[in-house]
Amino acid sequence: CAGCPHRATYYVLKKLKLTVSGDIGCYTLGALAPLESVDTTVCMGASVGVALGMEKARGAEQSKKTVAVIGDSTFIHSGITGLIDMVYNNSKGTVIILDNSITGMTGHQHNPTTGFNIKGEPAKQVDLVKLCHAVGVDRVKVCDPFNLKEFEQIVKEEVAADELSVIIAQRPCALLKYVKFGPVLTINQDKCTKCRMCMKLGCPAIVDRGNHIEINPTQCVGCDLCPRVCKFNAIEKAGGQDE
Ligand code: SF4
Ligand code: SF4
Repeated sequence: CAGCPHRATYYVLKKLKLTVSGDIGCYTLGALAPLESVDTTVCMGASVGVALGMEKARGAEQSKKTVAVIGDSTFIHSGITGLIDMVYNNSKGTVIILDNSITGMTGHQHNPTTGFNIKGEPAKQVDLVKLCHAVGVDRVKVCDPFNLKEFEQIVKEEVAADELSVIIAQRPCALLKYVKFGPVLTINQDKCTKCRMCMKLGCPAIVDRGNHIEINPTQCVGCDLCPRVCKFNAIEKAGGQDE
């Protein structure tokens, strides 16, 4: 989807050439081109155990090249048990919880992290940071993956760390009704060098016409991610220059 929070996460993981142990959810689509980040997908919750298994089979250095990614609802369903296993087995790995504040793939059901029950009534909300600390993970970082530079720095630090860490990549699903974006963007053809960096995001609104790159205004939601990868400031608000 245009505006998807996971697009930024996978853009960074691919840039860092990490092995990604994936899981079941809308974010499994990160296996597809052009993001091509997810290397394994077995079953719900398996991302964490598979990452731990790789570390134990191939040595601790493997954990410096690997991350597990798992959505918020899948983590609550069956990822937490794997994380406890990582704590118990002295893992130095990194788990990224893709917290989009909803259960995306199956139709936007609430889950214990959203603060509402399955009927949409207010419910006690599981705090992911406190939960990770409670099971023994000392390093827990929270970051909006659309802050690409900060997110990349956090991933580099946590993967390099000699202890287990959890990164909570927190940004709500673009399809949630309360999510509002800015104006539709367009590509200034006078500034565009056709470097195609923006194409690496895989946003369905960005179209390669061969002799030029353009943004389909009927698809763009104005999430403002693509200008962050364009080094030539060629992506602007439609109908006028960027301030
Ligand atoms: S990243 Fe910028 S310069 Fe490169 S193709 Fe996209 S709009 Fe053009
Ligand atoms: S074209 Fe850019 S601003 Fe529009 S939805 Fe795609 S990434 Fe977001």
